[in-house]
Amino acid sequence: MIDMSSADYITRSNVHSHTRFVDGRDTAEEMVSAALALGFHTLGFSEHGHADYDDCCMAPAQEPEYRAEVRRLKAKYAGRLDILLGYEHDWLSPAHVSEYEYYIESVHYVSKAGTIFCVDDTRQRLTDAAEALYGGDMYALCRDYFDTVCQSIEGTNAAILGHIELAMKFNEARNLFDDADPRYLGPALECAELAAKSGLLIEINTGAMAKGYRTDPYPGAAMLRRISECGGRILLSSDCHDARLLDHSFGLAEALAKACGFRTAWEYQGARQVEYLL
Ligand SMILES: [Zn+2]
Ligand SMILES: [Zn+2]
Repeated sequence: MIDMSSADYITRSNVHSHTRFVDGRDTAEEMVSAALALGFHTLGFSEHGHADYDDCCMAPAQEPEYRAEVRRLKAKYAGRLDILLGYEHDWLSPAHVSEYEYYIESVHYVSKAGTIFCVDDTRQRLTDAAEALYGGDMYALCRDYFDTVCQSIEGTNAAILGHIELAMKFNEARNLFDDADPRYLGPALECAELAAKSGLLIEINTGAMAKGYRTDPYPGAAMLRRISECGGRILLSSDCHDARLLDHSFGLAEALAKACGFRTAWEYQGARQVEYLL
């Protein structure tokens, strides 16, 4: 029985995890070992589903192999760890979800005037896209990013919205744009409101912290406050690409959520979504 009655409880569940099938450091079974060592009760795998324009995803022929491996681990570790078979879908690609127990809807790419560009890859690729497609206007780029996230929220059948403020990934120093500027904050808060009202689980994602890009999770405080005010539901995710960092900064992320007005968060316990006290 998991004791979540105490506000000291920090989630022992992560359902946003990547492996060596694409860009993770470790095998799926090494991730399982890490989860057991941390006293986790639930681990969900969410490898990047295929997208034609994406150079960081599973090839279609690889997906059956991935599913077979996660199912093998699910059977092997039954009774010790609840393992879930999921995937991370990029919004601009066709969804093919019937083989999965859940999936995460994420926007890594934005389409502009017939060109699809990545907001998640490198700072250079992001600024190149801003120059080539927006005349250097990062606010216009961010507006299109949030518009795309809003479209994904309205159109998805996923259980979870992944990293909805990914536009901040390379902007820790605020030298790409000012995230307090209304040209950024306006679309960001509209997106936060829509996400909250959708009822979908919204990630507080520490993945960019684990990779050294950021010292705070995203979404950041402004979006989180709006999500809280609008009654949105959050869950913690490490977007794990390294088994050593499976619960990276979960304590900090929960403290941020509390500071932004949340009294509870949600986690997966096996396939069930369960609310717990922060
Ligand atoms: Zn992602
Ligand atoms: Zn991910």
